[in-house]
Amino acid sequence: MRRWQLCLIVSSVLFVGCGGAATPELQLIEDAAEAMGSLRAVRETTSLALEGDGQVYRLGQNERPQAELPYYEITNYSLQLDYENTRWRLSQDRTSTYLTGSPLLGARQSYGLDGEVAYDQRGEQMVRASDQVATDRWAEMYHNPIGIVLLALDETSTVSNLRDEGGRQAVDIVAGNGTSFTLAVDGATGLPHSVTSSAAHPNLGDVSVETVFTGYEEAGGLGGFQARLTLPRAYTTSVDRYTVSEYLTTTNTNATLDDLAAPAEVQGSTPMESVTVEVEEVAEGLWLLGGQSHHSAVVEFDEFLVLIEAPQSEARTLAVIARAREFQPDKPLRYVVNTHHHFDHSAGIRAAVSERLTVITHRVNRSFFEDIVSRTHSIVPDALSRSPQPLTIETVASAEPYELTDGSRVLQLFHVVDDPHAAGMIMAYLPRERVLIEVDAFSPTSQEFPFAEALLQNIVDRGLRVDTIMPLHGGLSTLEDLEAAVG
Ligand SMILES: [Zn+2]
Repeated sequence: MRRWQLCLIVSSVLFVGCGGAATPELQLIEDAAEAMGSLRAVRETTSLALEGDGQVYRLGQNERPQAELPYYEITNYSLQLDYENTRWRLSQDRTSTYLTGSPLLGARQSYGLDGEVAYDQRGEQMVRASDQVATDRWAEMYHNPIGIVLLALDETSTVSNLRDEGGRQAVDIVAGNGTSFTLAVDGATGLPHSVTSSAAHPNLGDVSVETVFTGYEEAGGLGGFQARLTLPRAYTTSVDRYTVSEYLTTTNTNATLDDLAAPAEVQGSTPMESVTVEVEEVAEGLWLLGGQSHHSAVVEFDEFLVLIEAPQSEARTLAVIARAREFQPDKPLRYVVNTHHHFDHSAGIRAAVSERLTVITHRVNRSFFEDIVSRTHSIVPDALSRSPQPLTIETVASAEPYELTDGSRVLQLFHVVDDPHAAGMIMAYLPRERVLIEVDAFSPTSQEFPFAEALLQNIVDRGLRVDTIMPLHGGLSTLEDLEAAVG
């Protein structure tokens, strides 16, 4: 029997309230539930349905590493939480508010959790997400004032370390599975102020995830005999030091939920992160390493090889590095050129550093990579945390090209000046081969080409003679293709 069940029996027999929790920590939890309307009503809550709108920010996609994050405008937000069966699903429509080659307009997004199975909607299909995503989504379920109180009151949880934090009362809640949370309660109102937990981010490593609850007001329930609860209207979530979402919602407690079970095809599948690397020799000693969405290039010199781009994930970058080393096993792979800091183009930099590659990037990105390489990855140890190496970094300035040469082959790295996509964008140019390697400035498979004009202007201003364009998204193109995109 659970603590609260015993309490209910005792209180109904003796016609008294159920005060006097076992510890000061549990007292804080019970008081917070009372502040939301009723401890009993909170305990009897098995599900929540939140609806509203908001903003979702694109972490790691800012114009420069310290700039504001671009965001999606969110409408038709729906979050259904089933605490009895450990299931939830989020659905929302996203509309881009920033300049992009692939804008979203009311694009539906849906993802969720069913027990230990996390799943994502991809087009018409549901696909299984990784076990780490499932772990993080399990914790997300309790970034809610009702959810965290239910978890704290569960007999498999421990609640400890009551303390004052800047006028708020805070306690640590460790769930039966070992996951830790901190709940902060407002000193004046006694209402839950925030929930904090840890998560593993592929680029940032161990991060703190905090959700702050504001705008408490009486929430809709089924009415009748059920107590009306006072719940937040606004949920603001941050990862590390970045705000990642802000939602303005209304909440229904114990509402009828959709079927939140993971689809059968997802239940039966295993989470897989497969990497395919397809090689195309573009010129002698110049290879495009394609396959999937984010490509790399390899350039051969007399004494060494250069990799351009370490994108997408550690797994992809390590596969690309291994493939690059097969081209000329006697020559060291010495450098990795990073085109820009965006997380999808820098996710493999830590892996490249672990493989002792020297990073070349624009100088505005130096402190960003110093930070990325120094971060702790203890929740999910990555290649660099298993095999620590110092960062060796060289930077490209705006005026002059950075040049690598062995006397015959020349590789020039230019800053793409005034590229609205990223302030520290670099393009690579091989004058003898008349090949330009670039990313995001012109992707032949894009819906639109808002950055193509800046790229063409840079080619003209630098006096580059380009025949072939090697975009690191999409296939080989020509200068004429770029001009057509601009036109
Ligand atoms: Zn980008």
